[in-house]
Amino acid sequence: MKVLVINAGSSSLKYQLINTEDESVLARGNAERIGIPGSCLKHEPAGKDRIELKAEFKDHTDAIKMVMDALLHPEYGVIKDMSEIGAVGHRVVHGGEKFSESVLIDDEVMGAIKENIELAPLHNPANIMGIEACRKIMPDVPNTAVFDTAFHQTMPKKAFLYAVPYEAYEKYGVRRYGFHGTSHKYVALRAAQILNRPIESLKIITCHLGNGSSITAVKHGKSIDTSMGFTPLEGLPMGTRSGNIDPAIISYMMEKENLTSEEVNRILNKQSGVLGLSGVSSDFRDLFKAAAEGVERAKIALDVFVYQVEKFIGAYTVAMGGVDCIVFTAGIGENTPEIRKGACSNLGFMGIKIDDEKNNNIPGKYKEGIISTDDSKADVLVIPTNEELMIVRETMELLEKN
Ligand code: ADP
Repeated sequence: MKVLVINAGSSSLKYQLINTEDESVLARGNAERIGIPGSCLKHEPAGKDRIELKAEFKDHTDAIKMVMDALLHPEYGVIKDMSEIGAVGHRVVHGGEKFSESVLIDDEVMGAIKENIELAPLHNPANIMGIEACRKIMPDVPNTAVFDTAFHQTMPKKAFLYAVPYEAYEKYGVRRYGFHGTSHKYVALRAAQILNRPIESLKIITCHLGNGSSITAVKHGKSIDTSMGFTPLEGLPMGTRSGNIDPAIISYMMEKENLTSEEVNRILNKQSGVLGLSGVSSDFRDLFKAAAEGVERAKIALDVFVYQVEKFIGAYTVAMGGVDCIVFTAGIGENTPEIRKGACSNLGFMGIKIDDEKNNNIPGKYKEGIISTDDSKADVLVIPTNEELMIVRETMELLEKN
């Protein structure tokens, strides 16, 4: 069977068509600038060059139509008939407290996803548009929703509640939800597979370090705590997001600079993190380059980032009463031996040691492997994340169950 994976943003729609028999990617692409003049589809059939198809998409339905045309095209298409697509799996950012696992989409589920718009006003509306477009264009094909928050629904109350008046939780759902759940789940499962041990026996810390970063404590296969919170702003400093700060800074800055809540929100989301600290870039490649050239603030930004990663690893080790395995994933986690080494440099007292040779030369086609020494008390791994594959697997499980 073939499953189409859709990740719909407000003005873009990323897709992958995956063959479930061997989990290979048949085609991938991105419909860009939806509803904005100059929209185009970047489509890449497996083993062939990426092509750019110009067309105006006024909405997500137009974009999905264009994706289907590309997938069916005699020259650069990869299927002969729409009926080859057995299901569509959608990434949905916020499942609130309602969804602790992936679900087959029906009208009731759509209603519940809509109820969560309040919690994710930037993301859920776009996800909904993607689902509605697929339901319209492929009415007979089942759709599934795989939520970024679902994996973290196993957190206990002591981990997900903030110490603010309890009514804020009851009235407005103010609590920690956590994000990147699909990625944390994928790499935790893969780590157990690589180590050849049941996930139920492992205490794993998964570090998803990308443009957005979060760390999760996965105890016996379940998320028991994670660094992102009510929104993806909490936790580690990120490319442009502040991560944890003293909440009093917000009103202080608003008063000092005469800012509205919207303005201060924008500063914390778009102008902070390693970009705000360094004044150079949100991209770690630029930061390493600037630091090597002696730009002091770039060095400081990298130090602040590594220090916070270390602190979360320490905190989650204690939260789980130990750690068997630490996983690094996503853009920074997969590509920066310096950050991995730095984040583990103080773990020697627990007997956890990085093997420099392995850390600097991750073997194999998939660029995954163990980077700790053979005698390290916990295994440290690099595992490229694959949220699309996780969405396909969850979709297949749902189809088998129903
Ligand atoms: P997203 O959260 O958007 O999925 P990614 O996981 O792709 O982001 O991570 C993107 C970030 O990863 C970039 O901004 C950059 O900081 C970092 N990154 C990617 N490749 C490298 C590299 N080769 N060296 C250093 N940093 C990298």
